[in-house]
Amino acid sequence: MGQNEVLFERAQKVIPGGVNSPVRAFRQVGGVPRFVSKASGPYFWDADNKRYIDLIMSWGPMIAGHAHPEIVEAVQKAAATSFSFGAPTEGEIELAERICSLMPSIEQIRMVSSGTEATMSALRLARGYTGRDLIVKFEGCYHGHADSLLVKAGSGLLTFADSTQNAPSSSGVPQDVVKHTLVLPYNDTAALEAIFQKQGDQIAAVILEPIAGNMNLIKAKPEFLAAARKLTSQHGAVLIYDEVMTGFRVALGGAQSLQGITPDLTCLGKVMGGGMPMAAFGGKKEIMSKLAPLGAVYQAGTLSGNPVAVAAGLKTLEIVAREGFYECLAGQTQKLMSGLKMAADQASIPFAVDSVGGMFGFYFTSAVPTSFAEVTQSNIEAFKHFFHAMLDEGVYLAPSAYEAGFTSITHDNAVVDQIVKAAQKSFQKIQ
Ligand code: PLP
Repeated sequence: MGQNEVLFERAQKVIPGGVNSPVRAFRQVGGVPRFVSKASGPYFWDADNKRYIDLIMSWGPMIAGHAHPEIVEAVQKAAATSFSFGAPTEGEIELAERICSLMPSIEQIRMVSSGTEATMSALRLARGYTGRDLIVKFEGCYHGHADSLLVKAGSGLLTFADSTQNAPSSSGVPQDVVKHTLVLPYNDTAALEAIFQKQGDQIAAVILEPIAGNMNLIKAKPEFLAAARKLTSQHGAVLIYDEVMTGFRVALGGAQSLQGITPDLTCLGKVMGGGMPMAAFGGKKEIMSKLAPLGAVYQAGTLSGNPVAVAAGLKTLEIVAREGFYECLAGQTQKLMSGLKMAADQASIPFAVDSVGGMFGFYFTSAVPTSFAEVTQSNIEAFKHFFHAMLDEGVYLAPSAYEAGFTSITHDNAVVDQIVKAAQKSFQKIQ
């Protein structure tokens, strides 16, 4: 028995399913999760000291690569002054200023410790601001695990639950809570128009992933985003861009900078904390000023704006802002995707690919999906075999066909070539 098996058995005794977040458990693909012992650049090593090329990068945050020396140094320096004060620090202002300058739609920002907190708080704020209860979300989008957002949700919910029912995706969520959540198909402009026509004066917010990364990677259509912007403005609702995944990952200014849309509120996480527990929500000052202590919408956190996380975030944002960072990241990611597609074509396996910045999707379908319904048509059996073949070859993919993948600036030509070679062998094996 290898060390991963030993650790998994031990973990399952004290941690439900042996993991602290469900998708890590390899439930869709089967097998034993790899327990990470160390990581560097694009690689990590498991408990048996086997090396893998990491194509998850902690589900997005590690855009500069694992254990980037400058980030390690910044974190060590911050940690030496204590880990938390529960009182404001200058670093928080610096991080807030930097984000506001990189994303002009954000005039003010509040820091929290997870993406879940960011979206949950943004929704409360939107409801407090508008005095309305209804929210609109889209099938297959995942916005963290707050009760009201666990309806037809993506990510682990799509992997584990029957998300095809218009009911909570998780047990323990009262029907009463989700009755205020209206769920529409992603990219369905007509459905969005219809709901605003019917209930526009009761809708507090529309929340969306501007590039969905929790039902694999699905890009929003420009007309869909334009309609979301127009309808929310017309009806006095708040447009919330959930850029927890896409913020600083697809471009320095997030998906909104690529799409030319100015949301009212934006949720951030992942890259902005460089791998530390750090997230935020921000936007129009007029809305943000409704937050306590100024306004009546309460929101708080013992570890919010944590100084060690702030140091990691600041250094990460400094690194990604360097000239050519996103051009290089996007170029390498595209090269990787073309390589995978070519390898699949050589083995005559129906396969499609897409990417934006350092985020990618590959699909066991003949065309790139544009909706939740299309993505659930993927050949899951083929995915499972491919996943395990790649794992054997030392490439660690997301253990679910419904998750996007992530690269870092350290996934250079040599690393991409290794992955493509592994894919060639893997596709031949599963043919
Ligand atoms: N929003 C999006 C778009 C996400 O992808 C995620 C997590 O993957 C979240 C929110 C929740 O973030 P967290 O896991 O930090 O709570």
